[in-house]
Amino acid sequence: MSEEIIIIGNSFSGLGAAIAFAKYGHKIKVIAPNNKPQLFGGLQIAPNGLAALSSLDLKDEILDKATRLLAVEIKSLDLASTLAKISLSENKTTYVSIARQDLHQTLLRICLKNPLIKFIDAKVSAISQKFNNTTLILDNSDIITAPFVVGADGWEGKTRQFVNPTASQVNSGYAIYRGIFPSKDIPPGFSFPNVQLWLGNSCHLVSYPIQNGKNVNFVFSFSESAFSKKSIQSILSCHPILSLLEKRMKDWQIISVKTSEPLFNWRRGSATLIGDAAHPMPPHLAQGAGQSFMDIACIETLLAKGFRVSDTLNEMIKIRMPEAHSVARKSQISGDIFRANGPVANLRNQIIGLAGEKIINEFLNDLWQLA
Ligand SMILES: Cc1cc2nc3c(=O)[nH]c(=O)nc-3n(C[C@H](O)[C@H](O)[C@H](O)COP(=O)(O)OP(=O)(O)OC[C@H]3O[C@@H](n4cnc5c(N)ncnc54)[C@H](O)[C@@H]3O)c2cc1C
Repeated sequence: MSEEIIIIGNSFSGLGAAIAFAKYGHKIKVIAPNNKPQLFGGLQIAPNGLAALSSLDLKDEILDKATRLLAVEIKSLDLASTLAKISLSENKTTYVSIARQDLHQTLLRICLKNPLIKFIDAKVSAISQKFNNTTLILDNSDIITAPFVVGADGWEGKTRQFVNPTASQVNSGYAIYRGIFPSKDIPPGFSFPNVQLWLGNSCHLVSYPIQNGKNVNFVFSFSESAFSKKSIQSILSCHPILSLLEKRMKDWQIISVKTSEPLFNWRRGSATLIGDAAHPMPPHLAQGAGQSFMDIACIETLLAKGFRVSDTLNEMIKIRMPEAHSVARKSQISGDIFRANGPVANLRNQIIGLAGEKIINEFLNDLWQLA
């Protein structure tokens, strides 16, 4: 039986969920300000995320725009030496990078072709609940009452606040600079199809090529207590390889990262959270969007088994909540290790140098789906 679903948010979770529900004949309205969300930089999609996209029949379209990554190289930021190299080419499923814009356009194109998916160009200003009805007030003054609302509006969205009114966010203590630079303007090693993870003191840098190596995506993460912008520049400027990045400091975008306790409530009335709205992740394992695709793949599997929409959403929560919380915990631990300082950072580098490949493969086996 076809049911009507409102999805709030038109980024990866929102568009992916629209595709999954429409595949089973449900009528979708996606509410979001416009079809051009701010999409800067790239994403890594690990094998678990790609497998999820595959169950949505999206894998081939995504692979067309993606760059296959062959290894993760872990390096010492101080010594510019390689500590460990982990092959990604032996995994069961490929590991890729993609420009956010390219992934979004692919999902949007599929949605726009589907007559069951409509878009409402507006922002949700408020959400309220009366008996079994969830009512949305839009910034164009429209009021919508929907039998099912899927909140795919991210970790700062209205649906998360509505479902968990007392959940708070605190400063994570670290911040991130993000930049994309043309490969021709930076040292050639960065455009190899590898993820590079440079571990320093209270900071780390991740890079990977996107758009078939035309551009390289950089993320520099640092403890706010240890650095000012000036000291980041001095670290990069003294570095034999990274000094070229420092010259482009004005092109970096800064993100102040917030963190919150895991949410144990993903549904209120007819509103259900998915993606970052349900389980925002520290970005250190590059799993946020991948975990959103896993929510959607889970929804798709349940719909394929003949579940109604309400039961599908309840089951999805039961299956996905423990999985997503476990990955968020792993990301948090990884970030703490990546930003270690002083003697602990030295010990970390020594351990990675000796047994990095084995430890990391074991820690990430479930996400990387090793052969
Ligand atoms: C530095 C950094 C690097 C990352 N790298 C990776 C990576 O390599 N791999 C990976 O898998 N993940 C990565 N992530 C995580 C990834 O970006 C997120 O997990 C992903 O964007 C979540 O998608 P989403 O659709 O759930 O939410 P969002 O991308 O936050 O989208 C929410 C959407 O909701 C809309 N919206 C918000 N409020 C309203 C409203 N009131 N009304 C209507 N619409 C609304 C917004 O316009 C937006 O389009 C990274 C994150 C960061 C910060």
